Amino acid sequence: MMTAGANKAEGHLYVHVPFCRTICGYCDFCRVVYRRETAEQWLHALQFELNHRDDIPAVPETIYIGGGTPTSLDADLFARLLELTGTYAKECTEYTVEVNPETLDETKAALLRKAGVNRVSMGFQSSDPKELAFMNRHHTLDTVRRAAQMLRDNGIDNLSLDLIYGLPGQDAASLDRSIADALSIQPKHMSLYSLTIEENSIFGKKGVEPCDEELEADLYELVCARMQEAGFERYEIANFARYGYYSRHNTAYWEYRDFCGVSAGASGKSGHMRYDVERSLAAYLKNPLARTEIPLSVEDVCFETVMMSLRMKKGLKRSLFLERTGRNLDDIYGNVIRELCMQGLLMDDGERIFCTERGASLLNDVLESFLP
Ligand code: SF4
Repeated sequence: MMTAGANKAEGHLYVHVPFCRTICGYCDFCRVVYRRETAEQWLHALQFELNHRDDIPAVPETIYIGGGTPTSLDADLFARLLELTGTYAKECTEYTVEVNPETLDETKAALLRKAGVNRVSMGFQSSDPKELAFMNRHHTLDTVRRAAQMLRDNGIDNLSLDLIYGLPGQDAASLDRSIADALSIQPKHMSLYSLTIEENSIFGKKGVEPCDEELEADLYELVCARMQEAGFERYEIANFARYGYYSRHNTAYWEYRDFCGVSAGASGKSGHMRYDVERSLAAYLKNPLARTEIPLSVEDVCFETVMMSLRMKKGLKRSLFLERTGRNLDDIYGNVIRELCMQGLLMDDGERIFCTERGASLLNDVLESFLP
């Protein structure tokens, strides 16, 4: 963690762990079913990548180990992973690891503490056994409670829970119960996303239908109301935090900062260039430095800066736009901004633009207006 007189930590590091013990119905991330032998090979490849890339921040401000499921690794391999990433963690202010409740145990919780991890993001998704079974999730509310307790026993109290809503057949009452159950675990942060059906997910292949837009909007309203009643601030469209517990790492994405992505399936951004590390695990194991680079035009950068920033309650600062794009916000979007303000979807305080409540609930429409 940050110490007096230390170098200023800078940059954001994401490490992708491409393994899960079982595959959730909605998942389209880069992951394979865990096999120890493959995980051992992956750790060698990861070490090679970390040793041979020259664009990894030496003292990142935030580290996020996600996946996949980092805790799907056997304890000794999990320890090895934390050893590798630990090299970068000495000055970091926020060190997050994603955890699945059924693969966390006392040994792994102690390893997290020893590594200095100070934030955990855990998949909760629902407390309804039928909904969990439908998603192919293999935990219960009690499993999550036990996992949260293990983390607290190890001094990790900054806990974020993920919840999914808009499942087929789900109604407001069931979502309400899941939110209340999640809150009873006393997280500091919650991410609540509506179910999207990705073509390559199990749901996509089975032809599962998403819930209709009207119901989704009602459920989102319920989410916002319940989280607000519980004292959480909606600081981003789908993310809610107690005071002082914003995700610093994710805020870097929304502020369109550069970030470094490492391992199969990770993405990164550096100035006007985005890159994807090789997504196929087999190909990554052969060449851990393989990646696809996507140059971003000035128009792309302008739009993406707006798109990401307007997700946040604080919106987009004019000075930040200038810093990211080299352009003046009003020269490019002045007319659009005035029009959206007149429609009551956007507010402009001179320093920044941000969505009104209505604008936030119609964010896709707002963003469409900014499209080139
Ligand atoms: S949603 Fe998360 S835990 Fe489930 S299969 Fe995908 S990466 Fe693994």
